[in-house]
Amino acid sequence: MPFKYYGGVHPDEMKQPHLAVSTIPQPSQVVIPLQMHIGAPCQPLVKVGDQVTMGQKIGDNPAPLCAPIHATVSGKVVAIEPRRHCVVGDLVPSIVIENDGLDTPCTDLAPLTEEELKNPEAIIQRIREAGVVGMGGAMFPTHFKIQGGRGKVDTLIINGAECEPYLNGDHRTMLEHPVELLKGIELVRIAQGVDTAYYGIEENKQDAIDLLNSLNPEQYGVVIVPEKVKYPQGAEKMQVKANTNREVKPGGIPSGVGCNVVSTFTAYSVYRACYEGRPLIERVLSVGGSAIEPANVLIRFGTPIQHVIDNLGGFKRPIDRIVLGGPMMGFASFDQSCGLIKGISGLLCFTEDENRDVEHPTCIRCGKCIEVCPMKLQPIHMYMYTQKKDYEAMQKFHVMDCFECGSCTYNCPGRLPLTPTFKMGKAMLKANDAKMRAKAEAAEKK
Ligand code: SF4
Ligand code: SF4
Repeated sequence: MPFKYYGGVHPDEMKQPHLAVSTIPQPSQVVIPLQMHIGAPCQPLVKVGDQVTMGQKIGDNPAPLCAPIHATVSGKVVAIEPRRHCVVGDLVPSIVIENDGLDTPCTDLAPLTEEELKNPEAIIQRIREAGVVGMGGAMFPTHFKIQGGRGKVDTLIINGAECEPYLNGDHRTMLEHPVELLKGIELVRIAQGVDTAYYGIEENKQDAIDLLNSLNPEQYGVVIVPEKVKYPQGAEKMQVKANTNREVKPGGIPSGVGCNVVSTFTAYSVYRACYEGRPLIERVLSVGGSAIEPANVLIRFGTPIQHVIDNLGGFKRPIDRIVLGGPMMGFASFDQSCGLIKGISGLLCFTEDENRDVEHPTCIRCGKCIEVCPMKLQPIHMYMYTQKKDYEAMQKFHVMDCFECGSCTYNCPGRLPLTPTFKMGKAMLKANDAKMRAKAEAAEKK
């Protein structure tokens, strides 16, 4: 029985889980940023003019916190230059590959042997070499997370909540690759050094829960935990609470309370890396919003956003805005030539009718934002002081503890842009901290 957490909301699901994962023709060019993870950016391992095979490692960095990148098509490297990053928004160094259409596979990574599949070090090493990162959006290198948790973590949680509206990639993976997924979870469990993995799945995926339970998950050391449908059930801190009743304190991380949380598609990617010798080069992208035909489509990283839109028939209604990820935590996209990256699970194309912004947002002091904040924060006060740039008060009201789930914004009848303001407020606080530190260091040197 899962434990309850405070707050949360129930947005319309708008999901299309019945749509099987489809493919589209591969693009003529892929644009692969050297940074598709949290940590040190990769350095290119290829140069312009090189021929590459699909799955070949093309970028890496010896820094511990890094995940290598791989060619997602076979062909020729035609540029290594700054290109716009779909999440960061700035120009970042990227490798551009002209697709030869052959998908010639790279054979550098052989499937692990029977012995290696039982060896935590071999699994962790393979997870790193395959470039596996957190596919729920965080893009934290998975090998680093598992390695860092060894000896400290007693509970492994696999996140199958997929609580954001429109997103179905994890649900489809459960339905289409259940055995591979369970084997992937088993590998993560072995690598983590624990006996049991708890797989939290929201009850709106009952078909997947039934299917996974029918496959005797205990043989892989997996226990399926059906969870209440409530946003943001899929946030790491909520998964920890729901599965263990432990609370990750503000500023803390799950391993601080003995837990590690790994997402569904990450576990599936671990299976592919270890059993098939296939690096992480593709993922399921859920496409939705009333300006486009909905689909769950397998895309290679580096595929330009516009290529996906064109191959799904283009816009069927005038477009107002494009969001990458889910509607609650996603990012607005302003350049459709950007290549899609590892952490992007959704491509949402909205019309003006789906825009909830108003010209004059007004607070009516109803307190509904406070009622739903899963971090038990006070969004109304955080908003007020962020607008005033009152750093002291922003700290007092814990703006840095907001994990930008969007529940307060969703529930606000005054339509205040709360979450975008907190995102900006956190950046302001970080910049102010850096300024103060530099000032203190300069004073010390005098
Ligand atoms: S929910 Fe919106 S209107 Fe209500 S108190 Fe919070 S900010 Fe104000
Ligand atoms: S966006 Fe931040 S303040 Fe708003 S509900 Fe989520 S955690 Fe709380």
